[in-house]
Amino acid sequence: MASTQHSRSITVLGSTGSIGVSTLDVVKHLGREAFEVAALTGSGNIGLLAEQARAFDAKLAVTADESRYGDLKDALAGTGIRVAAGRSGLIEAAQMDAGLVMAAIVGTAGLAPTLAAARRGADIALANKECLVSAGDLFIDAVKRGGGALLPVDSEHNAIFQVLQEDQRHALERVIITASGGPFRTYSLEQMAGVTAEVARAHPNWSMGLKISIDSASMFNKALEMIEAKHLFDLKPEQVEVIVHPQSIIHSMVGYSDGSVLAQLGCPDMRTAIGYALQYPQRASLAVERLDFAKLARLDFEAPDETRFPALRLARLAMTRGGVQGAVLNGAKEVALDAFIAGRTGFLRMAEITEKVMTDLATLPPASSMDDVFAADAEARRLAAQHIG
Ligand code: NAD
Ligand code: MG
Repeated sequence: MASTQHSRSITVLGSTGSIGVSTLDVVKHLGREAFEVAALTGSGNIGLLAEQARAFDAKLAVTADESRYGDLKDALAGTGIRVAAGRSGLIEAAQMDAGLVMAAIVGTAGLAPTLAAARRGADIALANKECLVSAGDLFIDAVKRGGGALLPVDSEHNAIFQVLQEDQRHALERVIITASGGPFRTYSLEQMAGVTAEVARAHPNWSMGLKISIDSASMFNKALEMIEAKHLFDLKPEQVEVIVHPQSIIHSMVGYSDGSVLAQLGCPDMRTAIGYALQYPQRASLAVERLDFAKLARLDFEAPDETRFPALRLARLAMTRGGVQGAVLNGAKEVALDAFIAGRTGFLRMAEITEKVMTDLATLPPASSMDDVFAADAEARRLAAQHIG
């Protein structure tokens, strides 16, 4: 029987990144009957962006880098694909009439376009955790008011989303976020002090973008994920636990009042979480590796060490203080991370700088609008740059 189902339309913000490429791989696998592509966005990688736009017959291609507009225009000459650039181009992509938007830009740069998509009522597949870390409840409110669904793509939050029984919210005690521990799980502080970005980017289990890989090594990624979980699932700070699980097979868990713990397991492949968000509430059929428990043989766990990984302590501080402290933590961390990648500061200094800025800005009032969030983010960046010197 011929399918009468109309294909959905998808926009991928950050299509040239690790999540973006995996998203288009899932879209390709699901076929044209499932999705047509509205807009794709990238920044420096014009060749890949143009290739994706052609392959998926996108209506609009956007580079965040205004100086590359001409290059993108040339690369797509004669295709009929519209081209735009810069901040306004990203907003234009977000505002196109796609029912689903994959938010996969890295960092705070993703906030404004994702917000624009949420406000017009698109369903948001959220990889960009910084939206929730920085804007928190204001972002959740924007999604609610827009009327679209919020579908977590971060593997831990996707796992929690899969096993959280909404009708049993009263019985939910805690969420347990798993962490691989990253490449420095067994390193001493002295060993970590001297590592370079090249070493820090080598994640043991997941293949990801540069910044999130280094954030995994410092456990700032886990810190962001704790704050992300708090907002996403409306939790108290003490309901958010972290356990180190080096194999990354259990992607996270939910604990209930009868002592039951429900977990989602799978091979570490982001396409499972992406497929779940793209096909929700259905399950996609995906060509990912299946778990072989006999081969796995064992799963290990250990308590996280907040002395060697102070980012976790800073996340707790941001959660208990509330207000704009998530934006402050993330803004300061992004500047410190850029400095570390550029070789201008040390690995352990990233947490020290972030903590200093959080102390400087401990009494900032809560945000009543997105402007307050952007102002807190900007102030945190300014102070972090000052501390780096
Ligand atoms: P990435 O660095 O591989 O890709 C980032 C994308 O954002 C690229 O398309 C890039 O062109 C674009 N971009 C970069 N700077 C930009 C700017 N200033 N303005 C607009 N666009 C810009 O990153 P990634 O690993 O795919 O991660 C994307 C997001 O997903 C991050 O928020 C990350 O925390 C989150 N995430 C990633 C993974 C993963 O497995 N990679 C897992 C969970 C969550
Ligand atoms: Mg994650």
